Amino acid sequence: MLKCVLTALLCVLMVLPAGAEEAAPANPVNTPGRETCGKPNCFWETPMDYRDEETMWAMLTAPMTVVSGNFRAQAEVYAEPSTDSKVIADVTRSTQGVHVLQHLDNGWTKIECYSSSFSGSPTKAYNVLTTGYIQTELLVEVEVRTEFALVVDKLTQRLYIYQDGKLLDVLLVSTGLPAKGAPENETRSGEYLLYSPTGRFPSGDFQCNYGIRYNDGDLIHEIPHLKRESGDYYGRTEPLLGQRASHGCIRVQRKRTEKGINMRWIWNNMRDKMSTRLVIWEDWQGRQIAIPDAQTPLYYNPKGGKDYHDSPTCYGVLDKYEPMTAFTYGELETGAYRGLKVCTYCNPPLRTADIEEINAAHAPAEAAQSAE
Ligand SMILES: [Zn+2]
Repeated sequence: MLKCVLTALLCVLMVLPAGAEEAAPANPVNTPGRETCGKPNCFWETPMDYRDEETMWAMLTAPMTVVSGNFRAQAEVYAEPSTDSKVIADVTRSTQGVHVLQHLDNGWTKIECYSSSFSGSPTKAYNVLTTGYIQTELLVEVEVRTEFALVVDKLTQRLYIYQDGKLLDVLLVSTGLPAKGAPENETRSGEYLLYSPTGRFPSGDFQCNYGIRYNDGDLIHEIPHLKRESGDYYGRTEPLLGQRASHGCIRVQRKRTEKGINMRWIWNNMRDKMSTRLVIWEDWQGRQIAIPDAQTPLYYNPKGGKDYHDSPTCYGVLDKYEPMTAFTYGELETGAYRGLKVCTYCNPPLRTADIEEINAAHAPAEAAQSAE
């Protein structure tokens, strides 16, 4: 018994990174899938760490295996290699990637994917990470476009834009907020291809600009706005950026970052680049956001500025106050910096307390239990 306890303790100690006590809490890196296929740069086996540009780019530009057919239709994933067995997942044709695990010699292939059940699906497997079987003849490996790639992380509610192997910028998003009786509102995770530049479309009382379809009913688009005589009104959706809010679509910020990037920029640069990869990471228990290094530079306007910023210039600040004054992330909880709010144009790192709140909500299952 004692040996078991000691062994368990030793295991816990071994997974803690060196220097964890003074630096950030651990950032347990995880992978989107559970299974292994042995192929290099596979999305499903690449750690969910947006900062590792080389590894990310190799994954984001690798070919993708999809199910052939019309992109507004879905195929069924079975519990066993037989159409007589239970259907356990839906997969959207042509635009949704699947993890190919094993080709059997009976015409079936074992795969892994997040189920793309939408409202009305008899399968009712909403965003469930599933291992099952599909007919081998339906699978096709496709090349992806390699100028840009997009990564949406549900944990941080941010969109990471990559260009030519580098992390270009970070935008705020709102992914789906499941409601009671509407589990299909959860944004489906996994790997996808931008597939159809839809443009403007109505959503209830709202209008959405720059929609690009990537997974049947799911689009990436600008935050919805209301048409008013005084102009387009974003006040109902913009304050929700950085948290779940949509019915499944990925809402993207309208305000420009210091590089001038927003959803309109994505539309202008990618609407003619369909087959660009879009990856969506699940925010399951155990994933944690790293606390930024204390030396990370931040900026503010000492002449009455209310926000802290990621760069010395920002579209959220008048030109006459630029360049702004630098300070560090380590000073953010001291003196006058304590009252500054996070800028919603340039998206500097969140305050430590806000990161810790997200991390506590996503604590590993064992840690959550032992903390009681
Ligand atoms: Zn800013």
